[in-house]
Amino acid sequence: MSLNLDPRQRAMLEAMGVTLWQPLAADAPIAQVAAAIPNAPENIAANANTQRPAARFDQKFTAPKSTLAPHQPLPPALAPGPAIDLTPVATLDWPTLQTTVASCQACGLCQGRKTTVFGTGDHQARWLVVGDAPSEADDAQGQPFTDAPNQLTGQLLDNMLKAVGLARNGTGEQAVFITNALKCRPPASRNPQADEIAQCEPYLRRQVALIQPHIILALGRVAAQSLLQATLPEVTTLPLGKLRGQVHRYQGVPVVVSYPPAYLLRAPHDKAKAWADLCLAMAVMKSA
Ligand code: SF4
Repeated sequence: MSLNLDPRQRAMLEAMGVTLWQPLAADAPIAQVAAAIPNAPENIAANANTQRPAARFDQKFTAPKSTLAPHQPLPPALAPGPAIDLTPVATLDWPTLQTTVASCQACGLCQGRKTTVFGTGDHQARWLVVGDAPSEADDAQGQPFTDAPNQLTGQLLDNMLKAVGLARNGTGEQAVFITNALKCRPPASRNPQADEIAQCEPYLRRQVALIQPHIILALGRVAAQSLLQATLPEVTTLPLGKLRGQVHRYQGVPVVVSYPPAYLLRAPHDKAKAWADLCLAMAVMKSA
């Protein structure tokens, strides 16, 4: 995917509140790009291995009801809980995985859900977006990051995707699959418990194995923890900001961590960092 933004992408960036503030050349050195991004993490330049454009976000959306806070550590008991038997899940095909999740009662979150949220999009997409957990609206609709007219979180995610040339229901080069680490909504949008994350992780693992994405964008601490805990045990104690700006791995797939859209609506000053993360993900895709 080219990092040169076409007029449509620029229009989408405007729609998501992003202003291209310094037209750096597409082949600008990564250190120059990192220096040009306000508040960019210092380790972007150290970890990125290619060039990317720069932009900054400005305030455009109002904040929604608070959800999971990316700066706060998760509950202390983040040691993995009792995991479900991986063997059957690891052999399921896509339709059977969907029906298995739909009827899952492996953790207590099944008791309060209206519906499970398996994910949406093309399950052969090269991009996989993983959020934390379904919102109240997602729980009602059965879709992650619901993009109903009054759902600013879903709308912001859609604009973020469009800015990098993707679409929620896109195909081919525009295809993306969107899911969450947790398939059921925690009551009152509380932080998921360690055992809930552990119980649900095999489903995400199987989704990744079947989709075989080229890049995973982890939007939130729970998503990052679920994906990285096996290779980065300290992920449970690191704030999300410490996980950004570098390329992690999950089952060999590159993982870029960023802020969840709901947080960006409350903290628009961090949109510049989120855009830097998207640029890093694009750079990874370009080099794949
Ligand atoms: S959150 Fe995951 S493990 Fe828990 S009941 Fe829902 S699908 Fe099953």
